[in-house]
Amino acid sequence: MRSYTFTVQLMKQIVTSLISAVLFAGCATTTTAPMKEQKGSPISYTVPPLPYEYSALEPVIDTETMKLHHDKHHQAYVDNVNKALAATELASIPLEQLFKTASMLPPAVRNNGGGHYNHSLFWQVMSSPKKVTTPSPELLLAINSAFGSLDLLKEKMSAAGTTRFGSGWAWLVKTDGGLAVTSTPNQDNPLMDVADVKGTPILALDVWEHAYYLKYKNKRADYVKAWWSVVNWDEVSRRYSKK
Ligand code: MN
Repeated sequence: MRSYTFTVQLMKQIVTSLISAVLFAGCATTTTAPMKEQKGSPISYTVPPLPYEYSALEPVIDTETMKLHHDKHHQAYVDNVNKALAATELASIPLEQLFKTASMLPPAVRNNGGGHYNHSLFWQVMSSPKKVTTPSPELLLAINSAFGSLDLLKEKMSAAGTTRFGSGWAWLVKTDGGLAVTSTPNQDNPLMDVADVKGTPILALDVWEHAYYLKYKNKRADYVKAWWSVVNWDEVSRRYSKK
């Protein structure tokens, strides 16, 4: 039993070193500046405050859901990713870098690191339904080119969210070829090597039951339909234009 435990520990260490080596080697050939920082001290993640009140998304997303979702669920992902990274060689590597080798990561890092990244984005790309926002001309052009119209994008992303089996996310992603819609299971995201469609997510839709069950019960499609009125297109446009 002791030698089994020892072997498991050793294997974990080898995998961790491998990921670390792959990421550092990859960075060394592309950029040098960020690497100096990454070799530094371990990163400790914290839950970012909401950019609005808990009640700001009413009546689309109720206050109690927001409190539980942000203060309890997101906090748990943060606590658990910090715990999973503690005292490992991965602790000093930013999550966005780690996601590139998600398939090799310990499940606790992949799931909780993904949970932290995904929720941090989710809070930012929403705003009060009273605040009317629209895609920037630049983003709208890309949407029309990729999907035909904004309504067709909404249709496609809604379908991605409602048909995602079990828990997961729907995404609008900036890829090398333009925009794409996709979905991922659990807390995976399009920055991960395991994603069907890879790219930079600029809009995220959480379709886990904890995101809607108190108000919408089992009716995920109703939540997804209503959710469009809290999308903060100003923020999505900013993320689209970011180089
Ligand atoms: Mn969630």
